[in-house]
Amino acid sequence: MQVRLKFEEVDLLAFDKKHIWHPYTSIENPLPVYHVASATGVRLKLADGRELIDGMSSWWSAIHGYNHPVLNAAVLKQIKKMAHVMFGGITHEPAVCLAGLLVDITPPPLQKVFFCDSGSVAVEVAIKMALQYWYTKGKREKSKLLTIRSGYHGDTFKAMSVCDPVLGMHHIFQDAFPKQYFADTPRCKFEEVWREEDIDSFQRLIETNCTNIAAVILEPIVQGAGGMRFYSPNYVKKVRLLCDQHNVLLILDEIATGFGRTGKLFASEHAGIYPDIMCVGKALTGGYLGLAATLTTDDISEVISSGDPGVFMHGPTYMANPLGCAVAVESVRLLLASPWRERVQGIEQQMKRQLSVCADCSAVQEVRVLGAIGVVEMKEDVDVARLQKEFVNKGVWVRPFRNLVYIMPPYIIKEEDLSLLTKTIVEIVEGL
Ligand SMILES: *Cc1c(COP(=O)(O)O)cnc(C)c1O
Repeated sequence: MQVRLKFEEVDLLAFDKKHIWHPYTSIENPLPVYHVASATGVRLKLADGRELIDGMSSWWSAIHGYNHPVLNAAVLKQIKKMAHVMFGGITHEPAVCLAGLLVDITPPPLQKVFFCDSGSVAVEVAIKMALQYWYTKGKREKSKLLTIRSGYHGDTFKAMSVCDPVLGMHHIFQDAFPKQYFADTPRCKFEEVWREEDIDSFQRLIETNCTNIAAVILEPIVQGAGGMRFYSPNYVKKVRLLCDQHNVLLILDEIATGFGRTGKLFASEHAGIYPDIMCVGKALTGGYLGLAATLTTDDISEVISSGDPGVFMHGPTYMANPLGCAVAVESVRLLLASPWRERVQGIEQQMKRQLSVCADCSAVQEVRVLGAIGVVEMKEDVDVARLQKEFVNKGVWVRPFRNLVYIMPPYIIKEEDLSLLTKTIVEIVEGL
């Protein structure tokens, strides 16, 4: 047996192409990948020396930018104590501090914290909590979920069952998970005057099927990977009301929207409502480690504890990983101590000014900006590989998907760097 110790640049990319899956790509005919050697602030440094301004925050995560001295220090300090220890029968300060922070900054009814290692698992945990709650109450028929189309909740099975059925390619897995209830995608946009009929489809489904529905799950205000859509806070308010009226729990998936991205600390604040269960992840660790959490109320946890089996049946190996928790504590503190509201607002205003010119292009369907999220929706799907290459050649990191060219930069981005991002998007979109 010969073991490879080192790769030359050409070999590295060739080996990658031959052996490694990348997200949502063919392994036989993959899209090109770029070799990133390091990253600092809002800049990704490629192995060939080129620097790219980051428009993606590594999928909503790196809100403080890369290689942050405070977050680096938190990891180093913790790693000298312990990188990991099992959470069964053991607790540690990073987990307790982080749970304390989360209980303090999330809606007041949320008092109980379950840590896990990814957003998808946090969604699984949330759904299991809802199912076990009704099971314990003797309502076993409440086993289905209601959600809205164009949603995204992760790649594990139950999470996948509530992703948009078309985009999530449910037909491939139709025998592997039960069909859930899907209301129409909300049409009323974030800043539009509320139209009562927007809730009709949802209302009909919950009224007709509430005896079988354990919970509603949705991404409040911003639907992420399902289409980068921003919808009316009134819709979320109505959903809360209808859930209460029909004895259905409400799960809010704030994995993408949490920690300031939409201009509020959590997107549910736009609607002024509280969920029964909430998932956070992504920016939780500032983009350092995979960590997520599911929070719930005293009522739900008491009911789950009251019956048989009386315990919540979940416990990942890396539950509450100390390194992840330690860096998350510092990331949340850093956020709270920073002028994040002003920064996100500044990014929002600048993107509104600078991206709006795209709206005049014939290939563009709509330009929309909310908080630190800027979206140029094209009329047709774009050639991801070609556009990506053009962006890289112009010195920015933007990764479009389907018909969406979008950015969600780290909150610390400077005005001139953001200008380069938006200018490049305008140039490339105008060329389509
Ligand atoms: C990314 C995402 C998830 C899944 O999180 P992973 O950490 O990728 O498993 C779930 N819900 C939403 C809204 C997300 O954006």
